[in-house]
Amino acid sequence: MPARNVSMLDLRREYELYRDEIRAAVDEVLESQQFINGPWVARLEQAVAERTSAAQGIAVSSGTDAILCALMAIGIGPGDEVIVPAFTFFATAGCVARLGARPVFAEIDSRTFNLDPAGLEAVISPRTRAIIAVHLFGQCADMDPINAIARRHGLKVVEDAAQALGAQYHGRAAGALGDIACFSFYPTKNLGGLGDGGIIVTSDAHLAALCRQLRQHGELTRYHHDRVGGNFRLDSLQCATLLVKLRYLERFTRARQRAAGLYDRGFARGPVVSPYVRTGHTHVYHQYSILADRRDELMECLRLRGVATGIYYPVPLHLQKCFAPLGYRQGSLPVSEDVCGRVLSLPIHPMLEDDELACVIEGVAAFQPTSQTAGNRPAVSPCAAS
Ligand SMILES: *Cc1c(COP(=O)(O)O)cnc(C)c1O
Repeated sequence: MPARNVSMLDLRREYELYRDEIRAAVDEVLESQQFINGPWVARLEQAVAERTSAAQGIAVSSGTDAILCALMAIGIGPGDEVIVPAFTFFATAGCVARLGARPVFAEIDSRTFNLDPAGLEAVISPRTRAIIAVHLFGQCADMDPINAIARRHGLKVVEDAAQALGAQYHGRAAGALGDIACFSFYPTKNLGGLGDGGIIVTSDAHLAALCRQLRQHGELTRYHHDRVGGNFRLDSLQCATLLVKLRYLERFTRARQRAAGLYDRGFARGPVVSPYVRTGHTHVYHQYSILADRRDELMECLRLRGVATGIYYPVPLHLQKCFAPLGYRQGSLPVSEDVCGRVLSLPIHPMLEDDELACVIEGVAAFQPTSQTAGNRPAVSPCAAS
């Protein structure tokens, strides 16, 4: 097997496929000179809403702003608590804190990396207003029990679906599983733009109207501000190019799923734990994240073979410095902490070739985490030669 450098993502290889279409779309916007609120915005909103079977889409400036705007529409503010998983990208909790509310961290299921419904009720208080369920790595959180708990306590459910466009949960799409959902078009996401971008989708007409208003400084009619919003608009250029890339999403998702299937088979007998996909869930593999003992050594072995890896995420949110005033400490959320120490994401993207996938599988298989017997230092490096 010839050595290859396998990267986590290869956007340049992808670009070869749609260069001409993207350039034509950019040209169309340039010729129109309608950079803000051009017709591409509504077209993208409709296309994404249709895909997620939500009634409406509201394109916004980033996935983070989608969460912020959705929480503003729900009316989250000082004194409120919002439940978020401790293991997710920072923005999920950061947006809660920015509104003066308190993020309350909940434990995850170590097999799916998503909110564990079993732990939810224990962290609900009279101040709890909402739950943000993250569909981490491209698999939906277990939404039926989460929604049932939310209904019992009168809470809103926000989906942070930034990594999960196209994912399904018992036949329903990510984005149609809670009260309101947030997607990101950050360039590395499954549908990425030419810069920052995001979208909110919802079938709640009231929340949709509020989001539209908040996106444009709380204006209901020009220069009349009913509430304080922000500039959360998404540019015409981004919308026009995202419409092109959306045409490739299904094909790219299938390529990710195929790669994941090859990895699953390759790792069936260890030495790492493949992602666990729950029955009735369709995973879109934004990341292919394994659990590995001696994770950092495995990472180094793979690096020596030219295989890139990533740690998403090395620090659980309750232990982030900025949240120290909330009073959590090491041991507060042991499952999330343990996962942060063992999780490792392998290269997965639509353009991976079979010899690259084989290279990753061989690299992982060659790793010998058990070569260290009790009391003995390993005689050989855990990175066996190929
Ligand atoms: C990427 C991401 C976000 C934020 O999206 P941006 O577009 O980068 O602002 C929020 N939550 C999760 C889970 C993400 O992966």
